Amino acid sequence: METLRLDGRLLANQIQQKLKEEVRTLPRKPRMSVIYVGDNPASRIYINMKTRIAESIGIEVTVHKMPEQSNTEQLTCFVQKLNEDPSVDGILIQLPLPKHLDTNAAIEAISPSKDVDGLTSKNQGGLMTGYPTILPCTPLGCLRLIHQARPILTGLNAVVVGRSRLVGRPMAQLLLNENCTVAQAHSHTQNLMDICARADILVSATGIRGLIKRDFVKPGAIVIDVGISKTEDGSIAGDVDAESVMGQAGWLTPVPGGVGPMTVAMIMSNMVNIVKHEF
Ligand code: NAD
Repeated sequence: METLRLDGRLLANQIQQKLKEEVRTLPRKPRMSVIYVGDNPASRIYINMKTRIAESIGIEVTVHKMPEQSNTEQLTCFVQKLNEDPSVDGILIQLPLPKHLDTNAAIEAISPSKDVDGLTSKNQGGLMTGYPTILPCTPLGCLRLIHQARPILTGLNAVVVGRSRLVGRPMAQLLLNENCTVAQAHSHTQNLMDICARADILVSATGIRGLIKRDFVKPGAIVIDVGISKTEDGSIAGDVDAESVMGQAGWLTPVPGGVGPMTVAMIMSNMVNIVKHEF
């Protein structure tokens, strides 16, 4: 069986092109504030990429750099200021935050109507209850990729490996909302291979390089690789051992060039929807 590539870069470019046209029709440019605490080199690269793409679409970005030694209260107070600033449409806190900061408190400080990442309890609760909401960007990007392979997911078995607030949990909920039968695996799951091998749709979001091997993949399955880990030579790799699943999976996202670009495209899409009041 041939394994088809689910090209996130291509799809993200198409989405961004459409957003650019949509932004031209808006009464004014959407404005996004990015909060960046400390100086994590990977975060700096991500922020530069998001800024470049946002600006190419017509979204204005302001990066607010806060010192590494900032405390949680200073961070939440700053978020509150941005909440109250009518010139700011969307607020994004670049994660991960330095370890001494309370990430949950920082996320909860964001006004749900400006929560471009869709991570606040109100927006995640909306995803659970079916209330119109800003959806988390990475799972949303994964779903768009899955839909490239199969427009209708009703009745399919889906397995999500990982249960974080950022990826795993909302991903499982999105697939449940698509009428999939969903299993959620995590670090305490027993017989991970057997569970994964039943999946028509397998999404892995652990950050453990090469966790998903050929025997974990049902023939023809859609495999979405969210994980990012560094290799010895400094390049990045995913959770899926791509070489071993070739010829077994029906579709596979590459790393890089799969979920990453789609996450950025979904941030931009959420920004445009916020300004259009489409939540
Ligand atoms: P996290 O560390 O919060 O969660 C990791 C999850 O993996 C946990 O729920 C844990 O239970 C599970 N896990 C760990 N070991 C496991 C094992 N042996 N078997 C099964 N499950 C196991 O991370 P996160 O924020 O959810 O991100 C997950 C990965 O996705 C990371 O590599 C991150 O860098 C990447 N990521 C990529 C994008 C993107 O745009 N491509 C976006 C967000 C996160």
